[in-house]
Amino acid sequence: MTVAFIGIGNMGAPMSARLVRAGHRVQGFDLAEPARRALADAGGIAADDLATAIRGAGVIVLMLPNSDIVEATVRDFTDRAEPGAIIVDMSSSEPLRTRALAASLTGVTLVDAPVSGGVARARTGKLTIMTGGEPADLARVEPILSVLGTTTRAGAVGSGHAVKALNNLMSATHLLVTSEAMLAGERFGIDPAIMLEIFNRSSGRSGSTENKWPNFVLPGTFDSGFGLRLMLKDMRIAVGLAAEVGTPDPLGRAAVEMWSRAASTLAADADHTEIVTWLRKDPG
Ligand code: NAD
Repeated sequence: MTVAFIGIGNMGAPMSARLVRAGHRVQGFDLAEPARRALADAGGIAADDLATAIRGAGVIVLMLPNSDIVEATVRDFTDRAEPGAIIVDMSSSEPLRTRALAASLTGVTLVDAPVSGGVARARTGKLTIMTGGEPADLARVEPILSVLGTTTRAGAVGSGHAVKALNNLMSATHLLVTSEAMLAGERFGIDPAIMLEIFNRSSGRSGSTENKWPNFVLPGTFDSGFGLRLMLKDMRIAVGLAAEVGTPDPLGRAAVEMWSRAASTLAADADHTEIVTWLRKDPG
């Protein structure tokens, strides 16, 4: 299958490389030249522009930073896409904007298929993929998605993006409260590695105790490959969704405020696990 892959960053690079290894013809485009080179090194075809990347592609995968960029990109290529092509937005985009974008298209179809699992699981093809769209449309792209991970359909178009944002609101809130607990225990004199061992056999367990703290915080590497500002974008999408549907989210909004304050003090390219660095500075 000829697949266009747009956005070859931290996630897009290992995902597109897997599609190449699975035998697909992958025509990729990214604004950044090193990203295009990464695809060429992996055996894909690095296009010099968007129009070349989508030429002849029945499936167009997007792995871009946000809805603004997704919308601008789709508007840029829709009239040149193969008739009947299917666009798979795997970025973490805004569900209502996804729904509106999908409804506005003619001649091509858009489904959403955002992911969880980070760079490590993008490399191993073990991403959790949450989809939104008509079952028949999703079935057409399953041969692509199955190379990247395991798919669960959340509902109509936009539903994958809704679940993704809500998941990251939970994940970011877990990371913040886990970090508060870890710092308090540490100050009390308990070895952090021992605390994680106990938490991971107790009810406070989460992705933060099982993965983020032991792999990126304790070693001090802060290199999960997921930017703090991308996490904050997802959290804002989730509280926006709660406001839109009228459900209470006092904790979510408090977490957004904390993460916004961290984003205003940390470096522009800070990893999301650096929320702990911000917390250590005792923000009060
Ligand atoms: P990234 O910043 O590493 O990659 C994004 C890429 O898009 C960059 O290479 C950039 O040059 C490219 N790009 C930006 N505008 C473009 C345009 N107009 N045309 C072509 N290329 C363009 O980000 P990432 O971490 O790979 O995340 C991508 C998406 O996946 C985001 O929506 C993010 O929220 C989501 N996500 C990330 C992770 C993670 O662990 N990194 C996990 C799950 C979901």
